[in-house]
Amino acid sequence: MIYLAEPNLSGNEKKYLNQCIDTTFVSSVGEFVTRFEEDICKVSEVKYGTAVSSGTAGLHMALRACGVGRDELVCIPTFTFIATANAVMHCGAEPWLIDIDVKSWTMNPEVLEEELLKKAYIREGKVFHKASGRRVGAIMPVYTLGMPADMDEINRIADRYNLPVIADAAAAIGARYKGENIGGIANATVYSFNGNKTITCGGGGAIVSNQERLIKLAKHLATTARCGIAYDHDMVGYNYRMTNLQAAVGCAQLERVEEFLLKKKYIRNFYNQSFRQVEDVLLFPEVKWADSACWFSGLVLSDSCKVKKLCEALKEKGIEAKAFWKPIHLQKPYLQAERSDMTISEKTWDRIITLPSSTGITETELEYVVSSVKELL
Ligand SMILES: *Cc1c(COP(=O)(O)O)cnc(C)c1O
Repeated sequence: MIYLAEPNLSGNEKKYLNQCIDTTFVSSVGEFVTRFEEDICKVSEVKYGTAVSSGTAGLHMALRACGVGRDELVCIPTFTFIATANAVMHCGAEPWLIDIDVKSWTMNPEVLEEELLKKAYIREGKVFHKASGRRVGAIMPVYTLGMPADMDEINRIADRYNLPVIADAAAAIGARYKGENIGGIANATVYSFNGNKTITCGGGGAIVSNQERLIKLAKHLATTARCGIAYDHDMVGYNYRMTNLQAAVGCAQLERVEEFLLKKKYIRNFYNQSFRQVEDVLLFPEVKWADSACWFSGLVLSDSCKVKKLCEALKEKGIEAKAFWKPIHLQKPYLQAERSDMTISEKTWDRIITLPSSTGITETELEYVVSSVKELL
């Protein structure tokens, strides 16, 4: 089987894991956690960062560190993985769902601005939702498939409403926005190191920022809000720390981050060149502002039926292919959530098919995927 996103563990992963076992440092303290946090900051070109147990935990802690609390609203795009919305709910807040931009599949800043203008007001420097009286606590764009959102526009709106911006950059490590590393362009930026991401720790996440206080608070909350070495805790914290075992794998992965990112880009170009001339098929979006991390590559077909059929037929040929995220506004827990018009998301989401995009994929395998897809289309 040629898988969609298979972890690539042929570097120092085994060696570093053995070091954890040999030294008995398998838990949430250890040299690899410290090194991983330093390495993540380097790769992100930021000053501060903290490792956590998952991307979802990272989003939750970043929201809390930015002051998001009970009964607030957080603006997020509807086209995202469920974890973005769930992290908002874990704060006792609720998502305010925004449609995406057809050019990039990321949160449409024009729609965001229109929604705030129409449905919110500012009082004493705070933003409130007119209909419910609830405070708006933050804006959380998502870097879809590793593609940064239009952050100049989103940051401009955030400044105007005095709202913090937390970027769900789960699969976007190494991406650039107008030439700048994405690590420092939001108040906080969150990565996931789940098994299917470009860099994996098995499971894990990290928050990076240039704001020291924000990272200190996030780390404090994620480590049971412990003060010093005695059993003193000054807040209701969480047990969200990354373990040394996870970080050991992560350190080995980060040694190859440049290689992995180049391979992801190679896969994207390979599919784009192979399918550019094919009728009834569209390519994944590209925009001038973004240098995408190209987490997954694939195609856009003319309808959802074709996606389902193609996935099934490819499976018979030993190729894993999948539909992509179902938007949040169509998910059971969020059917009542506040939302903008969703025309673009609804026209887009069920026509997307993701194709094998593992960093270990060979030229022969890529050619086999392309010829199989062409034949079946
Ligand atoms: C993977 C992903 C997450 C969740 O990360 P976990 O580490 O699985 O908790 C959140 N948001 C997006 C956009 C993702 O792709």
